[in-house]
Amino acid sequence: MNLLDLDARGLADFFAGIGEKPFRARQVLRWIHQRGEHDFEVMSDLARSLRENLAGKAFVQVPQVISDNTSTDGTRKWLLDVGASAIEAVFIPETNRGTLCISSQAGCTLACGFCSTGKQGFNRNLRTSEIIGQLWLANRFLGATPRGERVISNVVMMGMGEPLLNYEAVVPALNLMLDDNAYGLSRRRVTLSTSGIVPMMDRLRDECPVALAVSLHAPNDSLRDRLMPINRKYPLKELLGACRRYLDRAPRDFVTFEYVMLDGLNDSAEHAQQLIEIAGEVSCKINLIPFNPFPDSEFKRSSSEVIRRFSDTLNAAGVTTTTRKTRGDDIDAACGQLAGRIVDRTRRTIRLARVEA
Ligand code: SAH
Ligand code: SF4
Repeated sequence: MNLLDLDARGLADFFAGIGEKPFRARQVLRWIHQRGEHDFEVMSDLARSLRENLAGKAFVQVPQVISDNTSTDGTRKWLLDVGASAIEAVFIPETNRGTLCISSQAGCTLACGFCSTGKQGFNRNLRTSEIIGQLWLANRFLGATPRGERVISNVVMMGMGEPLLNYEAVVPALNLMLDDNAYGLSRRRVTLSTSGIVPMMDRLRDECPVALAVSLHAPNDSLRDRLMPINRKYPLKELLGACRRYLDRAPRDFVTFEYVMLDGLNDSAEHAQQLIEIAGEVSCKINLIPFNPFPDSEFKRSSSEVIRRFSDTLNAAGVTTTTRKTRGDDIDAACGQLAGRIVDRTRRTIRLARVEA
């Protein structure tokens, strides 16, 4: 058993199953996640018999690092081997915080046209160990600040994949991020971004309400249908309903709406007005993301002038709006550029057909 697949409860159950005292699990949790240890032999305050029992029945294993690149702006990206495919995790240092952006799936089934991950197709869901393993690895690489503080103060599930379509593996990983015996982050500092999987938003609200970001990207159904195919299944009205229900339990009193700025597509004055109406229905903040290009992307980024005007219109109407800084684009680590190396298992035939055509 890979102990990185288990949150505190899972680990206690595992301990009971191998005839050990469940409360010992807490000690092991601290060794693994707080001290970044994988070798049971080093866990000196555990009884020898427990260490031997663990060595025979368990291990701590994270994905292999394939590459490790640092951008001129300090953003750092790791490419990690998860079998046939490879996934990416990105660390973004800022003045007052350090944010780790992690992946939940190898690829994505949802195929939003403006997203490099979506364009790649889908390989498989990541295991809990592969999700929390990204944080475990980044922590080991980054260490602590000179004052002994954690370098990673925030985690965002905004990497590759749709986290709410890998719910069963994502929630134990979230639990570990929040657990005082593991990473001890507050719910406000852990953000899950979803394209809007309505029923799973309700489950997350009931079971593990972390801060929520929703990829909106269009203020009406006809445009959102075009940009994000998932809208045909969960249209705006249902999505906004789920956001309102989420707010009852959310750690912040707003939902963040992400809105990628696509030249000539979703960036007009009329779109801004429609967005203002939506903001009237759900307590929210809007985060504008200048589109980041990738090979074969058929969209263009709105000009900075248009983005500024769009943002000003929203702010003037009382809708708090920020524009995300593009970070790490020289190492293809910016939002939507994460491609990893996906061996597609869903659309391979389509892609082959395209190549032949
Ligand atoms: N699947 C989830 C989380 C991962 S995407 C989701 O869609 O929310 C993280 C954010 O980057 C999303 O808001 C996504 O829409 C946005 N994004 C995708 N492609 C982009 C691109 N090329 N440029 C800018 N943002 C992009
Ligand atoms: Fe998947 Fe999110 Fe990319 Fe859409 S934007 S394809 S949901 S990862």
